[in-house]
Amino acid sequence: MRDVVLELLKEVKDPEIPTLNIVDLGLVEAIRFDRGRLEIDLLPTFTGCPALDIIRAEVMEKARTLPQVEEVAVRFRLSPAWSTDRITEAGRAQLKAFGIAPPQPPKAKPAEGVTCPYCGSSDAVMEAAFGPTRCRSIYYCRNCRNPFEKMKEL
Ligand SMILES: [Zn+2]
Repeated sequence: MRDVVLELLKEVKDPEIPTLNIVDLGLVEAIRFDRGRLEIDLLPTFTGCPALDIIRAEVMEKARTLPQVEEVAVRFRLSPAWSTDRITEAGRAQLKAFGIAPPQPPKAKPAEGVTCPYCGSSDAVMEAAFGPTRCRSIYYCRNCRNPFEKMKEL
């Protein structure tokens, strides 16, 4: 049942990043199923994100399409805290596909530079610490001359 639900939840995308699904974003913490009742625990990403209500509604809607499910409960848990380390390899690729440089993978050294999601060059400079949302910074690639956003590590 867990795998079925996870597959289904991959259809729920981050409202701000339509290429990124909530499973690869690392939002799904627990799935419990017992006699028709499905409980899903999600971790909020950046707290106070208005997208959370949209995500919850979409998760409920998807879960109700499963024939075995009679009742659905979706909760946001604050513990463990979500961090960018929870984003999967596929999730990083999905961010890149949307033109956002992914946060550094957990094992990366802090000194490793930011690479441009368009051309892969590391010749990029930060233009603004805060982009359209406070979880992203704006960079400028000196190689292909494109501005791009980068998701901050958390
Ligand atoms: Zn570039």
